[in-house]
Amino acid sequence: MRPELVAKYRHQRVPRYTSYPASPHFTDAVTADTYRDWLAAADPRSALSLYLHLPFCKSMCWYCGCHTTVVRHEDPIWAYLAALSTELRTVAGLLPEGPVVRHVHFGGGTPTLLPVEGFRAMMAELRTRFCIASDAEIAIEIDPRTLTPEMVEALGDVGITRASLGVQSFDAEVQAAINRIQPFEMTQNAVTQLRAAGIQGINLDLIYGLPRQTVASCVETVRQAVSLKPDRLSIFGYAHMPNFKNHQARIDTETLPDADERVAQLRAMEMAVLASGYVRIGMDHFARPDDDIAIAAEKGTLRRNFQGYTTDAADMLLAFGASAIGKLPQGYVANILALPAYLKAIEADGLATARGYRMSLDDKLRATVIEALMCRFDVDLAKVAAAFDTPHEAIMPDARAIADLAGDGVAHLSGTRLIVPDAARPLVRSVAALFDRHLDPEGGRHSKAI
Ligand code: SF4
Repeated sequence: MRPELVAKYRHQRVPRYTSYPASPHFTDAVTADTYRDWLAAADPRSALSLYLHLPFCKSMCWYCGCHTTVVRHEDPIWAYLAALSTELRTVAGLLPEGPVVRHVHFGGGTPTLLPVEGFRAMMAELRTRFCIASDAEIAIEIDPRTLTPEMVEALGDVGITRASLGVQSFDAEVQAAINRIQPFEMTQNAVTQLRAAGIQGINLDLIYGLPRQTVASCVETVRQAVSLKPDRLSIFGYAHMPNFKNHQARIDTETLPDADERVAQLRAMEMAVLASGYVRIGMDHFARPDDDIAIAAEKGTLRRNFQGYTTDAADMLLAFGASAIGKLPQGYVANILALPAYLKAIEADGLATARGYRMSLDDKLRATVIEALMCRFDVDLAKVAAAFDTPHEAIMPDARAIADLAGDGVAHLSGTRLIVPDAARPLVRSVAALFDRHLDPEGGRHSKAI
């Protein structure tokens, strides 16, 4: 990417667009009663996706941007599992008969930190409460540092099909700077064990822009990561926002790469991954060409949800646990963030809705345009608008803004078709922001575009 573009866009703060509108725009106008109504109105033919948030970790990584808590013993985890069980029962009881679950995702936190018997019981409860398709994808996020052979055995037994392993960087100096010591052999061992347990889908998550990271260490991390032959790789940029995540203040800002260095790291990692036979998926994912997600990208059916890029085309994403966010045809539903308040709400009411967002027709239209841009980098505005019985002029961005992006080579308009060239993919969020009616020009809680 040209240096002048880096200089121009590096201070812009834009949402990651895993949802539109982004979650800071949710309000308390959506309540547990709203959620009850939306669940009861579900189409019995709906395909469901379930997300379960397990917010526990053994220690805190300084770069972490997740909602999680460090636990020293199991009591809080058991209390949480009991609440999750109540929430699952409540939601399943409100749905009509018929919807089938096509995807399940356990995120965190560290889902594999659960007591093994607790994890097995949770999976059994899920299968009792919901109709899970025999070919459903059941994915779990894994921290190799705390993965035990007993948990690997349980993952295989309950039918986990995909594991996402957090790696970030294999460089020892970087690992020390982020409080995450995880030698290559530890990750290698976890991958070997998971494959032996029958879990064939392996994702590795890498990060650039971490303290003490260099282009050379980023490329070496990619080399080691691809030697494990993962099916998918993701490469995220570290977002340093210590005002919102206090533990990030433990990172010495003097050791963080600047915007030019971040771009150089990203480019070097992308080139190393592509040269290893992977294809690019969306903005920040890579996959083997024969992987489902690569085929979906090729066919134009790739989707984007709170977990990032996905093949999951479910009509409803039902989310469970503290801070979890679900999506229904009517809009978004977000649970209470703080653990004690979540437990209390579930005990009192069976649901823990804190906020949400009811989508208008205009929101749905803009969400479709933004998802198309984020997934395909090419959207015909007239076609999308027509599907919503709306003239495309209603969503056409300001001509000067388009001309500005075109002048930078970041996007160009051909008739009503808006296209983001390959070289500008890292800036696609800035193009998507053109359609964001809720965008806060100050950026609020969003991360930098680069
Ligand atoms: S293991 Fe993951 S969720 Fe837990 S603190 Fe580290 S980065 Fe955050």
